Amino acid sequence: MNAEIVMIGTELLLGQIVDTNAAHIGRTLGENGISLYQKTTVGDNRQRIVRVLESALARADVIITSGGLGPTEDDLTREAVADVFGRKLEFRQELFDELVARFASVKRPITENNKKQATAPEGAEIIPNPNGTAPGIICGDSRGEVICLPGVPLELYAMLEESVLPYLRRRYGLKAGLYHRVLKVCGVGESWVDSRMGDLMARLENPTIGVLASPEWVRIRITARAESEDEARELLEPVEQAVRERLPGLVMGTGDDTLEGVVDGLLQQRGWTLAVAETFTGGMIAQRLTAAGARAFAGSTVFACSGTTGRGVDKRARDQAEAVRDQFHATCGLGIAAAPESRALAGEFVTPDGRHTWTSHYRDLDPLNQLRASTIFMERVRRVLAGVDTEHQDAKV
Ligand code: ATP
Ligand code: MG
Repeated sequence: MNAEIVMIGTELLLGQIVDTNAAHIGRTLGENGISLYQKTTVGDNRQRIVRVLESALARADVIITSGGLGPTEDDLTREAVADVFGRKLEFRQELFDELVARFASVKRPITENNKKQATAPEGAEIIPNPNGTAPGIICGDSRGEVICLPGVPLELYAMLEESVLPYLRRRYGLKAGLYHRVLKVCGVGESWVDSRMGDLMARLENPTIGVLASPEWVRIRITARAESEDEARELLEPVEQAVRERLPGLVMGTGDDTLEGVVDGLLQQRGWTLAVAETFTGGMIAQRLTAAGARAFAGSTVFACSGTTGRGVDKRARDQAEAVRDQFHATCGLGIAAAPESRALAGEFVTPDGRHTWTSHYRDLDPLNQLRASTIFMERVRRVLAGVDTEHQDAKV
């Protein structure tokens, strides 16, 4: 079974409203294992809606529409669906009675054009709308079926969940669902991750791979369509393996793992503690470790980011790392030094096993880049602790 969605409304075409219904329907169908290959948006024009529905019926089994079920002149979905299936619109007394009752309950007079909402193509099934006046419609023939929902988001969401999905499950015996696994990578650019996995992403159909970047990490989401958790695991595991092989040592964690949580775990495994001296990041590393409840975090100092040239910035990072380690009686020290004049950035991580120095440059000092820098330095610490020694193309601050 595969579906298409048709979004009806001139306001959508003209960008006067943003089409959040399509996103919601798409996500919901996906989560329920229903294949969706195409979406069309069409204005409030009867002939054009008919043409769009006919061409969608030639490709898909089920067409879900949104909008155009209201009482006004430009609400034309009912008429268009009747045209598509060669049926007449018939007046339904039971729908009218419900409308009358609904209007009475809100003490509003029912108008002549509301009568339109009590009509449906001959033989159509009705979908109740508990939150509004426009009921939904299901109408079909040998080509497939069209399910019409109103455009008001809350009405559409409820009808999709309470009526349409149960109907589709019954009718098509749907069992499949989508199962995800998320791998997180830090301190490298999204495009680099993309380039490492381009072939996998292009080749795979089930599971599929998506790459999503944020200042904190790049998330690699592997999505399988399967009928059970066991089947999903069989599909996901080899792909997860393939992704990990392409990003050796770089997968920081999965699911809800955070970098600060992972770093804390690695420190605890060795019985080590960490003190941090932060320039540029303004305490963000301390804040993140604290928020994660890091037991291995011993304390921090924050330095102003001002005034010095780049010379000796790595030496300063080293001095700070050692000083802060001693100040908080920690096993390890992380020092970050910056030189605003030359925009140089340096980090030093000292452990009982040795020292590791990194130097880099930054573009601007702003909260986003501070977050990026805190991620990059924590990821460096993670790589040292996890014994990952490869130099990868680093994300820029
Ligand atoms: P009504 O009975 O309210 O007229 P309708 O089925 O005719 O319902 P529309 O007139 O197309 O639906 O849309 C009603 C309202 O719902 C719009 O003004 C808009 O605010 C919202 N809406 C419609 N379509 C969408 C959409 N695709 N995404 C988000 N909001 C939408
Ligand atoms: Mg309307």
